[in-house]
Amino acid sequence: QDQQRIRNFSIIAHIDHGKTTLSDRLLEVTGTISSRERRDQLLDGLDLEREKGITIKAKAVRMAYRANDGETYELNLIDCPGHVDFTYEVSRALAACEGAILVVDAAQGIEAQTLANVYLALEHDLTIVPVLNKIDLPGAEPKMVAQEIEDVLGMPKEEVLHTSAKAGIGITEILEAIVERMPPPKGQRDQPLRALIFDSHYDAYKGVIAYVRVLDGVLTSGARILLMGTQVEADTLELGAFRPGMTPLPELGPGEVGYIATGLKSVVDCQVGDTVTLASRPAAMPMEGYRPAKPMVFAGLYPVESNAYIDLREALEKLKLNDAALAYQPETSAALGFGFRCGFLGLLHMEIVRERLEREYNLELLITAPSVEYQVLLTDGEVVTVDNPSDMPEVVRIASIEEPVMQISVFTPTRYIGTIMDLVTNKRGAFETMDYLDPQRVLLKYKIPLAEVVIDFYDQLKSRTQGYASLDYSLAGYQEADLVKLDILVNGTPVDALSLIAHRDFAFANGRTLVEKLRKLIPRQMFEVPIQAAIGNKIVARETVKAMRKDVLSKCYGGDITRKRKLLEKQKEGKKRMKMVGSVEIPQEAFMAILSLN
Ligand code: GDP
Repeated sequence: QDQQRIRNFSIIAHIDHGKTTLSDRLLEVTGTISSRERRDQLLDGLDLEREKGITIKAKAVRMAYRANDGETYELNLIDCPGHVDFTYEVSRALAACEGAILVVDAAQGIEAQTLANVYLALEHDLTIVPVLNKIDLPGAEPKMVAQEIEDVLGMPKEEVLHTSAKAGIGITEILEAIVERMPPPKGQRDQPLRALIFDSHYDAYKGVIAYVRVLDGVLTSGARILLMGTQVEADTLELGAFRPGMTPLPELGPGEVGYIATGLKSVVDCQVGDTVTLASRPAAMPMEGYRPAKPMVFAGLYPVESNAYIDLREALEKLKLNDAALAYQPETSAALGFGFRCGFLGLLHMEIVRERLEREYNLELLITAPSVEYQVLLTDGEVVTVDNPSDMPEVVRIASIEEPVMQISVFTPTRYIGTIMDLVTNKRGAFETMDYLDPQRVLLKYKIPLAEVVIDFYDQLKSRTQGYASLDYSLAGYQEADLVKLDILVNGTPVDALSLIAHRDFAFANGRTLVEKLRKLIPRQMFEVPIQAAIGNKIVARETVKAMRKDVLSKCYGGDITRKRKLLEKQKEGKKRMKMVGSVEIPQEAFMAILSLN
């Protein structure tokens, strides 16, 4: 393949601005798929992804496009995820491209997430082709939004393309712009092989399939490869490109995008960001920027039925094959029994893993409140990492605690500045900068503890701003904070799975709110159940769940059998997510009550 006629690009868009629809159109116009196949929305493989309206895993498709200059170009569309949890994956996908199409909804304008990804793209020196989508909508304001793109991103408004992905307007113009404006890949054929892994997935027959972009050198089918970050060697069982199905090829040369079937058993050996080279002639240096996937948020996963523990372990093992960012290790909770402490990239990632375990593996799970990872300096000088509040050492042994802190960017209409400032202050955030992007919109930056972002920050931000504000975040390091462990006692016994780490200034208030919530969430039992919050030995709040008065069935006057059955079924439904803790039944919601404390 002539390198001059290769173009590698990605599509950056805020959720719902039309990335999927546009991707499908590009595949259709280039004849890569037929319009009937378009229905199947190829780029959004996983059901769950489609439902959640996000693309979790980056994928790549190769198209052949005959341009106006009469030449046929090889266009590689590298799909990248659009959610804050997957910023690293986005950065790797962008590192595999020379250009990006920026899709902006002509009725909505630019959003924070879009901006964050545009900055990432600019960091990688990508050529950006701005596109206004949905110009067919009556509410579209293409002029205004084009002006916004010029003001905010410094791209001349004359260069902004106008399209409707849905109606199929302006699609060839985009293809022409890709060919004309984006540069071909650089890269030397005679150099040792270096190929960037920007995604991978596990295939039961071919082992881990690595999605790669060749930077230098040539990879031929059958070659023995070395993964420079993990130092794992593997065979190239098969080599090829997605067009859109897996199509074997004899080689991948400089600038080309494709896949390698490695036969490896786990994606952990073949991580996103790693560099592939030849075992016989390794490159001197890997690509910069490799970072093994690192979970940020931790929670306990417990089977509702304790005998499903083995099934849960097997399911986690299988999921892990395909998800390098998922971490897990066995954990025992006095309250919940045997389970696993799992690490996730963020709350969305956690939710996805939970749903997959339940849907694909038929498990019923209890998940404890998410926690972050604390660095605890002990009085004897040792530093321990704590990701489960119940593992927090005793107060007397602690010299200081550091917590992870995020830098967040909030992009919002100016009328919400007040309420956002208020929210951030409540969440222990510190203001950093405010930039007006135009008279109506600002970009606010704060430093804020990750623990506070994890807990309900995003939802509150959305509700306080009627959904107008958007959020992006990245880890900014660790910071000392005055934190205490808050224990919850149910019926006089501390329930380890309900403990949480709170800032001392908020601990009393949190304790009070939490026991109030728990009183409402824990169903009445045959006896009175006290619920208490304690810091160390000190009880800071108490509520009581009153005892149940009568048997529920006594309401049914014996005769009406269907009604009785219905009631029993209803009770069973209600019981679904319950766990016996001592002699008290605690529902799933109770473990999540921490997520909505203010
Ligand atoms: P994504 O989340 O960025 O992948 O967005 P989708 O491609 O799934 O599109 C989100 C919604 O916008 C869908 O309901 C699409 O049908 C709709 N949509 C996409 N492009 C257009 C367009 O050009 N015009 C109109 N009116 N709707 C569009």
